[in-house]
Amino acid sequence: MIDFRKDVSERFIRYTRFDTMSDPSLAGSRRPTTPGQVVMQKALVAELEELGLEVTYGEEHVVHAILRANAQGIAPVAFMAHVDTADDVMGNGVKARVHDYEGGDIVLDGTVIRACDNPDLARCAGGRVITSDGTTLLGGDDKAGVAEIMEAVSYLVGHPEVVHGDVEVFFTPDEETGAGMDMFPYHEMISKVCYTLDGGPEGEIETECFNAATVDIAIHGVSTHLGSARGRLVNALKVASMIADTLPHSESPEATDGRYGYYHVGAIEGTNVEARMEIFIRDFDSGSFDERIRALEALARAVADIYHASIDIDVHVSYRNMASANARHPEALEAVMEAGRRLGLDLHQELIRGGTDGARMAEKAGVPCPNLFTGGHNFHSLEEWVSVDVMSESVNMVLAIIDYQVAAAKA
Ligand SMILES: [Zn+2]
Repeated sequence: MIDFRKDVSERFIRYTRFDTMSDPSLAGSRRPTTPGQVVMQKALVAELEELGLEVTYGEEHVVHAILRANAQGIAPVAFMAHVDTADDVMGNGVKARVHDYEGGDIVLDGTVIRACDNPDLARCAGGRVITSDGTTLLGGDDKAGVAEIMEAVSYLVGHPEVVHGDVEVFFTPDEETGAGMDMFPYHEMISKVCYTLDGGPEGEIETECFNAATVDIAIHGVSTHLGSARGRLVNALKVASMIADTLPHSESPEATDGRYGYYHVGAIEGTNVEARMEIFIRDFDSGSFDERIRALEALARAVADIYHASIDIDVHVSYRNMASANARHPEALEAVMEAGRRLGLDLHQELIRGGTDGARMAEKAGVPCPNLFTGGHNFHSLEEWVSVDVMSESVNMVLAIIDYQVAAAKA
């Protein structure tokens, strides 16, 4: 295993200084949602050009770079990470702190990272850990991934004796807002397999995610003077709340984990005349996912009939479980597992109770897109931390996956 600890941590800390917190309220209306993301993307474009890669960066605001092959007949491979950070806690003005970690709690200005709540932290004793100063998040999600990909590419440029095929790199905006893949330049993509570096603890490989849909229901009531409303008034808000209450309580996010799917009421708003509700449906199994959509539609219509209200239902599938694309292209996961074996890492496959940009890519382009660990923990919080040792392992994983393509070409 090559020791990237110093280089990748310095690079990562440099990237944490970009103010790239995204703004979900602007998703879909402004791209990217915040200007700091463009600043960081332009800096990455400059670094990639300096390294000699072919770079495109257009109005999609996706950095796309190709390190050209130095040998023939090797399949290209892509790696992807996002430059924005979440807005759950302040994500700008990050001041990273490096700790030579000896065990115990890490006391920061704004918070304490407790060893008892962070079993993985105990395993880092004797190693190096990076946190914020405790007043912001750190931004390891996903600048750890960006740094790891950049470090791997820069290693290959510095070591022309290492044989590789075309290596493709994508740095997207606005992943945290859900809009990151809206304008992805699929037409430019040359790889048939892609890996996101947007995962967490050492060894975790995420290969399955939810199927996800948002169902918007518009309810049209009938308004009358309340004094003469008997038998005539139709209260849209009551219809909405009954639809919400009729959903199975045991199939909600607060009641499920593991492989169980759910319905979640995200919003009810409006007046007694017009109401709107937003319901999220999540399920790993695509059969029961489709069934949930049908069940919700039938239920909403039944409730509307009871009240003589009229409704409009709009179903939007956001992403699908990437397991099916991974199953159609088992070579994507084989490369990961072989890389792990070669590096002596104990890899385990995990479910994501959510989605990734890779899931959107799998859905849209049929490209398998497993999510690899980056060494980050406690994402979206003041207690976020990354392990420098694991970041170095992630760079080695990227290189080993690139090398797998070379071995596969020879076989
Ligand atoms: Zn992320």
